[in-house]
Amino acid sequence: MNIKYDFAVVGGGIAGLVTAELLTRSGNKVILIEKNSKLISGSSADQHGWFHLGSLYSASYQSTYVKKLIRSIDTLQEYYKKFPFMNIKIKNGKLSLKDQTKSWFKKNHLEYYVAARNNIDVFGDEKNIIKKFKKKWNWDLKCKLMIARHERIYRHYWGGEINAQNWIPKANLIDFKKRNIKKVKKSNINICSKTHFLLQSLDMHMDTYQITHDILQHFLSNGGKLLLGEKVDSYENIVYENENCKVIKLQNENVITKKIILSSGKGITEIVKSDIGLNTVASPLIVAFPALHPKGFVRVTPKNTKTINHLIHKVNGKAYSVIGGGEYANPDSETELEKIVVNLYKNASNTFEAFNKCEFKKHYFGLKNEISSNDIRNYGHKIIPIEENVIGIVPGKFTLGFNLGIDTISFLNNPTAKNNQLQKKAKNINVDHLLERPTHSRIAKEFILNNG
Ligand SMILES: Cc1cc2nc3c(=O)[nH]c(=O)nc-3n(C[C@H](O)[C@H](O)[C@H](O)COP(=O)(O)OP(=O)(O)OC[C@H]3O[C@@H](n4cnc5c(N)ncnc54)[C@H](O)[C@@H]3O)c2cc1C
Repeated sequence: MNIKYDFAVVGGGIAGLVTAELLTRSGNKVILIEKNSKLISGSSADQHGWFHLGSLYSASYQSTYVKKLIRSIDTLQEYYKKFPFMNIKIKNGKLSLKDQTKSWFKKNHLEYYVAARNNIDVFGDEKNIIKKFKKKWNWDLKCKLMIARHERIYRHYWGGEINAQNWIPKANLIDFKKRNIKKVKKSNINICSKTHFLLQSLDMHMDTYQITHDILQHFLSNGGKLLLGEKVDSYENIVYENENCKVIKLQNENVITKKIILSSGKGITEIVKSDIGLNTVASPLIVAFPALHPKGFVRVTPKNTKTINHLIHKVNGKAYSVIGGGEYANPDSETELEKIVVNLYKNASNTFEAFNKCEFKKHYFGLKNEISSNDIRNYGHKIIPIEENVIGIVPGKFTLGFNLGIDTISFLNNPTAKNNQLQKKAKNINVDHLLERPTHSRIAKEFILNNG
């Protein structure tokens, strides 16, 4: 006899894994189906390990993204506190981060090097004095807002009465404090300290392998079922045991389920065979060894073409750099892809003194799936009702996978277990062979192993 699942989750990236695990906490029968031979092998493998807490969006007058990202801290506190390596803790109202080998988040917070109004990238070759002034003025206001929001981040009493996700994004010019601006230290990088300022952010490096490893162990310990190497093409309605259900016909078995959650990125459109507003863009990242700078940082300018970010990860104890930019392209256009990757190499070579001499560098493209309209990027998470008992979910960012999971469960009206219901410790199941490592770490590891 077939098992009747409460939920079939289709797509084993961060969105599917987080949601599937949360659903098992309250005793649901859940099956997670992934077409590849390993989980976390799509976009979730291609990310650069940047746990966004809103700094990148804090210069925007719109507060949506800052709000959504800051909320991740509350979500982690409420739902992931009992995971032994979830290391964001609150002590006396302040965030504290104990950094150990297997911890989810790393203490080296990203520094923001922000182009100031006297930087050429702010006004470009604008000759018209009024237009030039307007550009400078507008950027200056944005920088002040960014600094004001960081002031609220530093001042915030976490776990108190005031809610961070509402209070921090609403910062205004009264919160602007010059004391938060520091000088950029110029070691190894060509970032002019006279035309940039340094802002310490809350954004962190994250170990996505460890995060997904621990969540998968929990999913399996709670009785979750995993099917790898099975592509879902469609589903059908069926009445099973006098109940309206769905059936997913796979190569080796039929999965019968009450509800379906499609977390398959671009695969959602292919399965539902209609336009759900999903847009896909490609972004390049460069992996360079050895690490080009000791700090993770973002150089922020009003121009996407001049923005650059740098994260540091380690394999076998050796540090390497992961470099990205602000540009993206149509994945089907060779010309556009070529153009943005050439620009990223140019930017990196202008920024890092050691870039052209480093032992190894290689780039790869990853695909970002977002629900957006009018070609405006949407970095937020989204739940898409498709038909009765079928929804699609898109995180927009790896970081937002946690919030998306919680919102999906409340959308489905499913009682979710918080920490107090996360009673069982995960069994020590070996899940290494079920999970893909991040793309950047696989690239760096191959070089490091082959070159001693
Ligand atoms: C270059 C790059 C850098 C990024 N950097 C960051 C970062 O540093 N920080 C951050 O927060 N976010 C980052 N992101 C965004 C983040 O990676 C994605 O938003 C997130 O991982 C998407 O997760 P997902 O679960 O929706 O998709 P995916 O990880 O793509 O998961 C979808 C899964 O569904 C499976 N699938 C597809 N079709 C089917 C089917 N028919 N049947 C069964 N399975 C199917 C796929 O194989 C895949 O495993 C980055 C993205 C890119 C591309």
